[in-house]
Amino acid sequence: MRSRLHLINVVFRCYCCRRMPMMPAQNNRLVLLYGSQTGQAKAIAEEIHENAEKHGLRTDLFGLELTEKKFDVTKESCVVFVCSTTGDGDPPDNATKFFRRLKKKTLPSDHLAHLNFAVLGLGDSNYTNFCNCPKTLDKRLQELGAKPFYPTGYADDAVGLEIVVDPWIEGLWTAVRKQLGLPPESCTVAGETVSMETTDNKQTPGGVPNSVVQDSSGQTEGKIDMKDGRTGETEINGQHDDNPEKVIESQSDFKNKEIVKSYEDSTNDRTSMAHTDVAEAVTHSIELENKGGVISTTKQSTGPQTENTASDCCVDATDSKTTDKSENKKTAEASGTEKHILEADTTGSKDRDRQVVDTVKEQAGPSLRVSVPPLCDSGLTLPAKPVPYLEVEFHPEESLCIEELPLQGGCPFPSASADVVMATVTMATRLTRHDAVKTALDIELDISDTGFKYEPGDSFGVVCPNNETEVQDLIDRLGLTDHADVTFSVKVIEGTKKRAAAVPAHLPARCTIRHALLTCLEIRAVPKKAFLRMLVEHTTDVVQKRRLQELCSKQGTADYAAFIREPNLRLLDVLTAFPSCCPPFERLLEMLPRLQPRPYSVSSSPLVSPDRLHFVFNIVHIPSGSGRTAPCTGVCTGWLDRLTRHMQTGVYGDMAEEDGIAEKIGQMSLNDPLKIPIYLRTNNHFRLPSDLSVPIIMVGPGTGVAPFVGFLQHREKQRALSPDAVCGPSWLFYGCRHRDRDYLYREELERLAAAGVLDHLVVCFSREDMETDGAPPARYVQDNLYHHGDDVGRMLLDEGAVLYVCGDAKNMAKDVNEVITQIVQKYKGCTIQEARNTVFQLRQDRHYIEDIWT
Ligand code: FAD
Ligand code: NAP
Repeated sequence: MRSRLHLINVVFRCYCCRRMPMMPAQNNRLVLLYGSQTGQAKAIAEEIHENAEKHGLRTDLFGLELTEKKFDVTKESCVVFVCSTTGDGDPPDNATKFFRRLKKKTLPSDHLAHLNFAVLGLGDSNYTNFCNCPKTLDKRLQELGAKPFYPTGYADDAVGLEIVVDPWIEGLWTAVRKQLGLPPESCTVAGETVSMETTDNKQTPGGVPNSVVQDSSGQTEGKIDMKDGRTGETEINGQHDDNPEKVIESQSDFKNKEIVKSYEDSTNDRTSMAHTDVAEAVTHSIELENKGGVISTTKQSTGPQTENTASDCCVDATDSKTTDKSENKKTAEASGTEKHILEADTTGSKDRDRQVVDTVKEQAGPSLRVSVPPLCDSGLTLPAKPVPYLEVEFHPEESLCIEELPLQGGCPFPSASADVVMATVTMATRLTRHDAVKTALDIELDISDTGFKYEPGDSFGVVCPNNETEVQDLIDRLGLTDHADVTFSVKVIEGTKKRAAAVPAHLPARCTIRHALLTCLEIRAVPKKAFLRMLVEHTTDVVQKRRLQELCSKQGTADYAAFIREPNLRLLDVLTAFPSCCPPFERLLEMLPRLQPRPYSVSSSPLVSPDRLHFVFNIVHIPSGSGRTAPCTGVCTGWLDRLTRHMQTGVYGDMAEEDGIAEKIGQMSLNDPLKIPIYLRTNNHFRLPSDLSVPIIMVGPGTGVAPFVGFLQHREKQRALSPDAVCGPSWLFYGCRHRDRDYLYREELERLAAAGVLDHLVVCFSREDMETDGAPPARYVQDNLYHHGDDVGRMLLDEGAVLYVCGDAKNMAKDVNEVITQIVQKYKGCTIQEARNTVFQLRQDRHYIEDIWT
């Protein structure tokens, strides 16, 4: 198995930053600092750094780990922080030292009185401590006397970081210049414009809008004629016609037709509403929050959600005078309206035309490949062209031992508290019946002789590769088949204009295209706008190029959200939708983020077996549709499923029976040990209380039950080791869909309950009718919490219990929080606000602990 071999026998190298002398602080220097866990904050800081020069600013960029090596905030006067949050609102790994020093209680209140700062925070509002780290940073800087010179931005990954990031950066330049005492930009750059303003979409005398494309440096796209809007119109409508007049004529014709007018009205309304939604959402929150010095959005509407099929191109089809049939078919295929258009073409009757347009009206709207007015007629402000900075040199004469390559170039993994080790898979058990909604797999790992030590409540990272077939598809699509397995080295292009250009640390010095795509790059990452901007440069078809420009433009924000971000499109989906786009591999090395390991909670106790570790996951299935060209499984869960298929057994017996594979298992594990790379993650919070008498309340539906199985097994052993110890009561609130299909670890939980280790096993089945003795049925864990509200309230408020919640962050954890608040309110007889304050305090005191994920 190739992917297995790729990951075995790895060598681990430490990535060490070279020590460089610290730059002397200067009055007009802007220092950009980032605290980044997975690379997003770093990428945004780099973007600011990259564009600063165009705005006449000199910047220095450093990771926060370089505090007091390359920068010292006690000596700087103007600093911009870009900072994310990790774990339970903790600082990213590279920022821990910086935060530790900043938080020292002995620092005087004027410690940073000389410092002016701005903060761009990144977070995810699915989590309770949204943007906790940037919020803490902002607060602490001000406590130490520093002054914010620009409102703090809180970008929310749950709705799209770009919604806040883009306008925040846009406004930053003016604020920085003002702060540094520099004149406004337009005065400094004589003869050039660095304005971010969009070119007016002014109508030409012929009624044709000027379609102007401008990048954020104010430069106009070469291929679209600014003086003659017709060129842009030709491109917008996909008419590859040498005679732009013809297209313009047809446009004018349309505009005189009432039927088309009404179509336009309907689409205009819808589209402009989508645009307005976003613009308003941002503007509103900026205005609203500016009062408190904050820019943020949370769960604002971001535009049209539905997959629409018709387009402006379809309207062209109704104009028999000017429309070429083959072009029509092409554009219709792109927009999914082929049938209607062909009908219109063959009859040519006015009634039919009207029917077609009516159908179009019903379905009209933008789609991934097609835009409608006003966007398709609009001038565009594009992000700056990403500057190429990597070049690849092939070494066909060199053979490479892929198996010996360090994992991701030996670059340290995020949240790692120990080295990567190779653990042997000893068992893979399906915990769900064949007819369950999701398939859950329990995997047992042998960690003997690896030095891997864990505690119940820990999570660990699985270093997984991408899907081999998907990688092959990408290689084929990019025309790289002949080079896929040839050794290459990568270096920075000499004289590149890219600032702080460096070969990504997660790429091995010698590599192959296949290896890089399989193990180093997140090929499923949703392409950011800058990525699409790069793709524009490598797209030959003018219609496709224009659409990509729209999708990455400021004006196309709603379409980007609806057709790229929300459906979670991958690079391969975008390349499929835009067949004339073919970026060079080097550009992908620059733009694709690092492939992230996937964390899993341990579902066992080392006291039971120090050499064995269990974890459980649901295999993620992502359907096709909304631009996703093929269904697929999650990167890691799909990989683990494929990897262990030959050895899987089922608690319901169906797997082993189905495949008759039971006896193969022993042989496989003896002859060919299956190893996967894992590493321990830091988690100091999700722990059993050291005092056994403290009551515990565990809430974990679905796979969220994982750490609690470990907790209870641990408790069982602890009790056996200290038979005289007083044990506090333990409650587990568990939920699944069907008692007989997806009740994970049922036997073990019932055994632990029967053994008295678990005092209360409270289970609900969300898709079964439950007998309730007259009480309202409990569908979800929070319903059962509510039913047992008196016990829960007493334990939490009077008996010092610890409440643990694990599993889904998006809905479950929020609903549980709400019910706990209600329970507290009822138990204390207080107002809802007082109850919220109490719950907040419980969290602060670590009596309400979450380990949740989306
Ligand atoms: P990915 O390839 O990462 O795909 C998942 C992503 O696909 C989703 O985030 C979403 O963006 C997208 N997606 C999913 N469905 C759709 C859809 N219908 N349409 C469009 N896009 C879609 N998980 C467990 O199962 N068990 C655990 O014990 C566990 N513990 C965790 C502990 C921690 C601390 C954390 C942070 C996470 C934990 N997770 C756990 C989650 C786990 O890390 C993975 O995220 C999960 O298993 C999916 O990984 P994957 O690589 O298979 O999926
Ligand atoms: P799941 O199988 O989808 O759901 C389990 C049960 O929860 C079902 O009965 C479901 O009911 C119910 N449910 C749905 N909405 C709910 C709500 N708002 N409140 C309470 N219950 C609700 O769950 P899963 O896939 O195992 O886990 C969900 C998520 O948790 C995944 O994203 C997983 O990655 C994550 N996870 C994180 C950790 C961690 O951070 N340590 C550990 C494990 C899992 P219906 O479907 O009938 O509505």
